Amino acid sequence: KQRVLSGIQPSGKLTLGNYIGAMKNFVALQHEHDCFFMVVDLHAITVPQEPAALREQSEAVAALFVAAGLDPAQASIFMQSHVPAHAELGWLLTTMTYMGELERMTQFKDKSEGKDAVGAGLFVYPSLMAADILLYNSNLVPVGDDQKQHLELTRDLAGRFNYRYGETFVIPEPFIPKVGARIMSLDDGTKKMSKSSPNVGSFIALLDSPDEIRKKISRAKTDLGREIIYDVQNKPEVSNLMTIFAQCSGQTLEQVQTTYDGQGYGAFKKDLAEVVVQALEPLQNKYADIRSSGEIHHILREGAERASTVAEITLREVKEAMGFLPRA
Ligand code: ATP
Ligand code: MG
Repeated sequence: KQRVLSGIQPSGKLTLGNYIGAMKNFVALQHEHDCFFMVVDLHAITVPQEPAALREQSEAVAALFVAAGLDPAQASIFMQSHVPAHAELGWLLTTMTYMGELERMTQFKDKSEGKDAVGAGLFVYPSLMAADILLYNSNLVPVGDDQKQHLELTRDLAGRFNYRYGETFVIPEPFIPKVGARIMSLDDGTKKMSKSSPNVGSFIALLDSPDEIRKKISRAKTDLGREIIYDVQNKPEVSNLMTIFAQCSGQTLEQVQTTYDGQGYGAFKKDLAEVVVQALEPLQNKYADIRSSGEIHHILREGAERASTVAEITLREVKEAMGFLPRA
């Protein structure tokens, strides 16, 4: 069985981008593979978080994993901070990561741009992410397109470690969807949709009410012209809405284009809103049930136990290979 691992930050409300780009694949992979999915709270604090909000969002993300279709009997669901090996291997790998490598990371450039106080954690984030993946000897990492560069660095670090200290880590492969790997922001078709955006109109949250969804879609930016044509170069905004339509309805982009041939943006957006509302309804109902049942704490405890067992073995091997004196 192949090992699968991925994570989502509790840095805001999960968006349709997180669902289409990552979570949908989590659910699809859980039956065939040995899966670990975590709420990466240690990553979320690379930008400032209010304690109460962090706590609430952490539980919300875990519950959304289950609401989206993850089965705790099939996949281990846990909080990153519940398994201390992440922070520890993160540090070990940080010492092996070059400044130049981190300086090239576009996520760091995007998230630090225009800020005068940027935490060092944001800069070394990719080393911690490498630790997350390598601790579990993961073969496949389902992520959106924006994480490709971090995955590349993880592969380099794994290779570097194996070369210096002997074969220890599995070299992981990214698992990126063909359609929907980069859902764009509703207010700017050149920026990816992000849950941490200060403009709530730029994303659709998985828990947005039907009216919020309708309002956000009706206000979504559209390109000049009025044709519903998939053309990312010239019509990034309409193409993005078509991708969302296709992913939420199960249709292909061609089918969407044929249906709306000759129709304007107004009719298309109206239907799109209903397609999104309907796609999210079952998830939202299930989410409410899970939160009220309180079962998420039990799921996270079990997940952390399973994860720790695997992670501690890898960490011990790593420390031994690097020459740390074992504790007697
Ligand atoms: P933040 O703004 O705090 O970084 P985010 O929305 O980028 O939040 P992450 O927790 O960083 O979410 O990423 C979780 C997963 O969702 C990753 O696999 C990432 O590649 C994927 N993802 C994030 N945004 C998008 C998007 N717009 N389209 C497709 N996948 C996405
Ligand atoms: Mg992100």
